[in-house]
Amino acid sequence: MKVGIIRCQQTEDMCPGNTDFKVAKEGKLAFAEIGPSEVIGFISCGGCPGKRAAIRAKLMVDRGAEVIVLASCITKGNPIGFPCPNRENMIASIRRLIGDDILILDYTH
Ligand code: SF4
Repeated sequence: MKVGIIRCQQTEDMCPGNTDFKVAKEGKLAFAEIGPSEVIGFISCGGCPGKRAAIRAKLMVDRGAEVIVLASCITKGNPIGFPCPNRENMIASIRRLIGDDILILDYTH
């Protein structure tokens, strides 16, 4: 499937996201649910408090993403063990904007 990944802007300088691309391509870990996937967009939340995430998710859906994925830096706190304190609000706002038909995965690996 075609996926759009949203990552934490705060950890951009700590992680290039290579594992996200690898597990998506191989359909492993979070992507086992949907199979081998093509990443059509990889963009940050826009910075705290994450209000830009929803419109960025919608942009990726409009450009072909069938699934929106929050990278593990947001929901698991990789690589520093610090999950985003705004993750639930972010997921809710993304859901409101993209509707119920698009699957949201809440981690990558
Ligand atoms: S809102 Fe969350 S995901 Fe976005 S930069 Fe801040 S801590 Fe990271």
